[in-house]
Amino acid sequence: MKISSEPKLTTDSYYEASVVRPLSRGALMSEMTADVCVVGGGLAGLSAALELRQRGYSVAVLEAKHTGWGASGRNGGQVIAGLACDIAVIEKQLGFEAAKRVWNMTLEAIDLIHERRAQFKIHCDWQAGYLNGAVNAKKGRALAAWVDDMQKRYGYEQQFISQAEVRQWIDSPKFVAMSHDPRSGHLHPLKYTLGMAKAAESLGATICENTAVTGISPATATSDAIVHSREGSVRAKHVLLAGNVYLDNVAPALKPRIMPVGTYIVASAAMDRNRAQSLIPSRAAICDTNFVLDYFRLSADDRMIFGGRVSYSAVTPMNLAPTMRERMLAVFPQLDDVAIEHAWGGFVDITMNRAPDFGRAESLGKNVYYLQGFSGHGLALTGLAGKLVAEAIAGNSERFDTFASLKHRAFPGGGLLRTPALVAAMAWYRLRDRI
Ligand SMILES: Cc1cc2nc3c(=O)[nH]c(=O)nc-3n(C[C@H](O)[C@H](O)[C@H](O)COP(=O)(O)OP(=O)(O)OC[C@H]3O[C@@H](n4cnc5c(N)ncnc54)[C@H](O)[C@@H]3O)c2cc1C
Repeated sequence: MKISSEPKLTTDSYYEASVVRPLSRGALMSEMTADVCVVGGGLAGLSAALELRQRGYSVAVLEAKHTGWGASGRNGGQVIAGLACDIAVIEKQLGFEAAKRVWNMTLEAIDLIHERRAQFKIHCDWQAGYLNGAVNAKKGRALAAWVDDMQKRYGYEQQFISQAEVRQWIDSPKFVAMSHDPRSGHLHPLKYTLGMAKAAESLGATICENTAVTGISPATATSDAIVHSREGSVRAKHVLLAGNVYLDNVAPALKPRIMPVGTYIVASAAMDRNRAQSLIPSRAAICDTNFVLDYFRLSADDRMIFGGRVSYSAVTPMNLAPTMRERMLAVFPQLDDVAIEHAWGGFVDITMNRAPDFGRAESLGKNVYYLQGFSGHGLALTGLAGKLVAEAIAGNSERFDTFASLKHRAFPGGGLLRTPALVAAMAWYRLRDRI
């Protein structure tokens, strides 16, 4: 599927309305050389750039639009331990010990956000705490079993919240049980992403905006790879593809392994602090445990930031704000009198098993790495992923290879049939969510 430029999805975000963007960075207009050329100025690319500069490599980041234009600047802001898939998926493929290492790396991903906030003074409204909510008794029992299993086998402590206690955590009729994870939390993703771009530049990375990469000439025995844009090129020893669902024909071999799925968010008007606080007294981020899930949180200025709903089309859904409002009222009926001020969305890069897909794009020559398949759970993991690529380029690929050894299947049907296949799968999951 060719992704449209999503005009409405990108421009009305509460995040864009609440930051002052720096002046646009110049486009690449010449030939340059760098140790590493990064394609994509989202969190995966920026994290790699920062980590590579810390290891002394010269880095050029080429971004088709502007930094944080993609999912990194538009997401729900939820920083959650773990992966989009259940850790059991990793256990099944790699065994318990490797799965435990992967789980611990997802915790490192959260710590990395705190390190970067502190080191580069990135002010991005961090708020600790995450609640996972079950909407019926069967899901409540499954949640209790998961909390217990994670504590016993992975040593990860969370608090299980029974039906009798739920209302102390959320003023909603929807949930019958919850778990509370104090280590996860939420932040303003665009402030964080812009802060990461500034941090990478402060260490000497070059970022070119309005620079869409159009193709890559693979390295040969005598020459490094050449990454081409319309008006310039970067000759580089290593290339990192971090373009999410937008890479399109730059890396055709990667395309069938991910599917672009639209997900949408609304921001309410700012509320009185006491009113906002009464909805979620701990101010934790919240997701339900459904496969097609709702995710929501309070912003630092007391808005309800409410996300959910999925679509498989590149076109903005009709009546986005009213339908998202209905979803919000199903959780918080008492917000009937609160206006919706912003509605936006973006695409997540889901894989068949929802495990991340990192590796080397051998069809584009040697030393070409890629990071994709965050499957809607990439706000923290992108940071770690960038670090793993930097480690691999610096000669220690052990942790990168743990992820790269995960097996992925292509979506059936290639480009044309991927969407119908996924629609059918999602219809099944929606049905399962109701059981
Ligand atoms: C609406 C929404 C809500 C989400 N909520 C959450 C959440 O609450 N928690 C969570 O953990 N995750 C969430 N996610 C997922 C998370 O945002 C992503 O996993 C993460 O931001 C991916 O980062 P990235 O750097 O891989 O991609 P992106 O941020 O999309 O960056 C890719 C960049 O590459 C550029 N690019 C692509 N092709 C080219 C090219 N040819 N040349 C040059 N540049 C190119 C694009 O312009 C883009 O800026 C959400 C995603 C969306 C869309």
